[in-house]
Amino acid sequence: MPTNMRGTPNSPAHVAVPTSGPIDLAPVQAYRTTLGNVNIAPAPGYTIEPMHDSYGRRINYMRISLTDACNLRCVYCMPENMKFRPRHELMSDEELLYLVRVGASLGVNKIRLTGGEPTIRPGVVELVRQIAVIPGVDDLAMTTNGILLDELAGPLAEAGLTRVNISLDTLDADKFHQITRWGHIEDVWRGIDAAEAAGLRPIKLNSVVTRNFNDGDDMIEMARLTVDRDWEVRFIEMMPFGEVSDFQQTNVVSFSEMRHTIEAVFGPLEEASYDFVDPSRPFRIAGAKGTLGFISSVTEPFCQGCGRVRLTADGKLRLCLLREDEVDLLTPLRSGASFEEMRVLMREGAFHKPWGHSLSSGVFAENRAMNQIGG
Ligand code: SAM
Ligand code: SF4
Repeated sequence: MPTNMRGTPNSPAHVAVPTSGPIDLAPVQAYRTTLGNVNIAPAPGYTIEPMHDSYGRRINYMRISLTDACNLRCVYCMPENMKFRPRHELMSDEELLYLVRVGASLGVNKIRLTGGEPTIRPGVVELVRQIAVIPGVDDLAMTTNGILLDELAGPLAEAGLTRVNISLDTLDADKFHQITRWGHIEDVWRGIDAAEAAGLRPIKLNSVVTRNFNDGDDMIEMARLTVDRDWEVRFIEMMPFGEVSDFQQTNVVSFSEMRHTIEAVFGPLEEASYDFVDPSRPFRIAGAKGTLGFISSVTEPFCQGCGRVRLTADGKLRLCLLREDEVDLLTPLRSGASFEEMRVLMREGAFHKPWGHSLSSGVFAENRAMNQIGG
């Protein structure tokens, strides 16, 4: 049996999934849909064949950007006058579902919906419902700014969403408005409450740390939330992309600085159990109910456990968040490629996933802003 970079055995190379019986092909017929003048044939029943990259990492996690558009304009993510792609350049629901099915046939069992802001995509609840029933998909999560969760958390949970990560960089209402340019923190709090009530647990909060903005008391107050709540608060090193890379590079706060700031107030952090797959390294304030996570993509990358690929809203398979390498899937799909041909494209693309990034050598991805990739 092949082993991955951590020396642990990979899943068996061929997991037979019956093509009849337990797999209901009825929803598949719904994919026989006309897109302009292109007809997408229904995805067949399939045998799941896990894909690996050339380093032996199993690729089983796909992050899908549902849209590049957003109802906020966070300063570290995109410029205020960001131009979004026209609708026809983005994957339709049918195209997106088809590509998820291709991924699932190659062992993708974890999906995270992101953006831009995923909750502003029209029909997002129905889309979630259809992704959730694709054979092989057993974990369906979302990263959201939480602004619309007050009304959507319940329907999304009912449709099959299992968890949400909600982005929140500070508990200070004025600073929240400043960093998001447009946001009101009360909307996020209502969203968090609705997500908890809907059972979208455990609640994880993502906090991007910006030098001289929220790297002091704001971090402390975010961390304090975990003392009485079983939440995970994740502090993220700011990553450089596209047009706002100068701002990002100047203002990155390293994992070791963040840890030092928090330990100065709460004492030494305890290490919590870690699977070496999640990009967030978990710690706990002594006696706290929840945990703290640190995503140190810039200063201490976690590439050995990375089984992620990303599907951009315009249908490109992005092989590493911080590199420009992409495989165009939407054009061949629209040109009539068969299910098997799409599988080959995805499998071969994933095989060429780069090992890691080269930020330390000053090389960063300039071809897209964060909102066009999805984080
Ligand atoms: N709009 C959703 C949200 O904000 O949660 C989902 C998309 S957003 C691009 C995904 C995650 O990326 C968010 O947690 C956001 O804070 C984070 N992010 C955005 N720009 C970043 C950057 N330059 N470096 C690190 N994280 C970033
Ligand atoms: Fe929108 Fe999320 Fe980017 Fe903020 S981080 S601008 S909420 S996509």
